[in-house]
Amino acid sequence: MAEPTPVPSNPAPSTLRLDRSAVKQLFLGDIFEENLFPYPTMRERDREMLGMMLDSIDDFLAAQKDDLRKWDDEAHQPEAFIQGLRDMGLFGLIIPEEHGGLALSNAAYARVLGQTSGHDSSVSLTIGAHSSIGMKGLLLWGNDAQKARYLPRLASGELIAAFCLTESGAGSDAASVRTKAELQDDGSWLLNGEKIWITNGGIAGFYTVFARTDTPEGKMTAFIVDADWAGVSHGPHEDKMGIRSSSTTTVSFADVKVPAENVLGEVGRGFKVAMSILNNGRTGLGGGAVGGMKQLIRLASQQAQDRKQFGKSIAEFGLVREKIAQMTLDCFAAESAVFMVAHYIDSGCEDYSLEAAISKVFASEAIQRTAHEALQIAAGNGFMKEFPYEKFSRDARILSIFEGTNEILRLYIALSGLKDVGSSLSEIKAAVNEIFNDPIKGFGVLGSYAQRRFSQSTGIGGDRILRPLAPRLAACGAVYEKYASELARVSDEALRAYGRGIADQQFVLKRIADISIDLFIGLCVLSRADSLVQASDPAADEAQTLCEMFMAQARRRMLRNVRGMQRNEDAAVERIATSILGRGSYPWDVI
Ligand SMILES: Cc1cc2nc3c(=O)[nH]c(=O)nc-3n(C[C@H](O)[C@H](O)[C@H](O)COP(=O)(O)OP(=O)(O)OC[C@H]3O[C@@H](n4cnc5c(N)ncnc54)[C@H](O)[C@@H]3O)c2cc1C
Repeated sequence: MAEPTPVPSNPAPSTLRLDRSAVKQLFLGDIFEENLFPYPTMRERDREMLGMMLDSIDDFLAAQKDDLRKWDDEAHQPEAFIQGLRDMGLFGLIIPEEHGGLALSNAAYARVLGQTSGHDSSVSLTIGAHSSIGMKGLLLWGNDAQKARYLPRLASGELIAAFCLTESGAGSDAASVRTKAELQDDGSWLLNGEKIWITNGGIAGFYTVFARTDTPEGKMTAFIVDADWAGVSHGPHEDKMGIRSSSTTTVSFADVKVPAENVLGEVGRGFKVAMSILNNGRTGLGGGAVGGMKQLIRLASQQAQDRKQFGKSIAEFGLVREKIAQMTLDCFAAESAVFMVAHYIDSGCEDYSLEAAISKVFASEAIQRTAHEALQIAAGNGFMKEFPYEKFSRDARILSIFEGTNEILRLYIALSGLKDVGSSLSEIKAAVNEIFNDPIKGFGVLGSYAQRRFSQSTGIGGDRILRPLAPRLAACGAVYEKYASELARVSDEALRAYGRGIADQQFVLKRIADISIDLFIGLCVLSRADSLVQASDPAADEAQTLCEMFMAQARRRMLRNVRGMQRNEDAAVERIATSILGRGSYPWDVI
């Protein structure tokens, strides 16, 4: 296996503000440099650990290449193979050393999942569902006694973890779970219900379960449930389109007695626990996607060089070269964002949920484009099961469905960003009154708002990327500055036009989300390219080219989305959807 591409390593001091979100600032028209520049570095300890681990992962998984393919067909992972994963320490990646884990940072963890994904996505999922979501709640919310009791066995893989939220009636609408936990006189809880599509459901010994508790403190509570307790069972392995050997089952609870000490976090705060786990875990999914893309680029490049048509290698044809370049750009952009977000989490940032959601949406869609194009380069071969492309396409498809569908995440990104714009609008209302009570505070708020509006309408003044960017990158910086102002402007206008009704304007929200996605991903790429230039890295020249390419594509998309706020075919879309949904079928024919 080829040498892994290193994540940028330029040593530079971090100016990160832990209490700020770069994306929320974008909605206010600001490029918050402190949280974007310089591009973060991998911790030295992680670099050393990765140096030791990545080769062994390659050796272990490459030796089982044919078996991995067979297990995908058969849809199972043999226990002996899972034992191999245990022996390599892959269940203890992010568990603290005092509990027997390897204590990797999120950045290094995402990099490990990238390595496993190059071989087999189901392997990444077995490890990833365990660490990213299955036992993440225990790490984030568990008390000392719970950690001491479970973490050592989770680190060794004696216990594999699963995250049990989804139910037949509660998918995207996760708050509507029906699994119920009733408080008993002795302080324990009686748990009843069924979860569906639970990754690791059939092999887990440790379940993080979310149940309705209807207490005065809140409607949902998280519990730690041991798989071997009376009343806990799981269904058969689901027969899936992709990630076929990863265990996916129902998990049922019939009068399960859960002791009071197994409440995870506070009673009634289960929804918060669930969302924090999903936010924190998203870099695992993103890291896996990046690793898959790197492998697809390797495979497709080789295929393009080897395959001869019209007397030439197909790698000489523009339409093939275009695909290779786009795959590389998608991978570089996804990697730049995923490792930026991992850095936020590792540094203790308080508010990174929008950045995490953006990195998940972008990386999951990027790998699907990449898998599609790699298969297209291989063409007939790509369609054959004998080659790996169709498996990559099948495996990648899940990434925009689970851990929050990309539709729900786009709505979340837009609405959360707009919330801050909305608060700034109500601040203005309040400020008008404040002028009479507290003039300095009141004028202060109005002053900065007026300056921002002026800057948005004229493009003069306001916040700018103040740092001197590498000369070639200055033009990219200027485009992102312009569109940060545009994002603030269209957000402001949308809020004024729709008020609270904005939540129902999904076409508008999607455009706003997509502008913020292009801005954040573009700025991560810009930061990374700039840091490579500052470090005189040999890859800096190509990184600048990738940065320019991303900016050019993003600018076209952002322009379309900004214009689409005024001129669009939304009414036609609504009309056709209403008509077809009403009929239930396509009404035309050519006969
Ligand atoms: C292989 C696999 C593994 C999984 N692993 C786990 C796991 O380990 N633990 C776990 O708890 N869950 C797991 N899930 C469940 C997964 O998280 C859900 O499938 C996902 O949340 C979406 O729910 P749903 O499939 O019910 O889709 P639905 O919520 O029914 O959505 C259907 C479609 O409608 C869209 N939609 C829904 N609501 C809105 C809205 N308000 N606005 C616009 N569009 C909307 C969705 O984006 C989607 O396109 C897994 C699923 C699969 C397939």
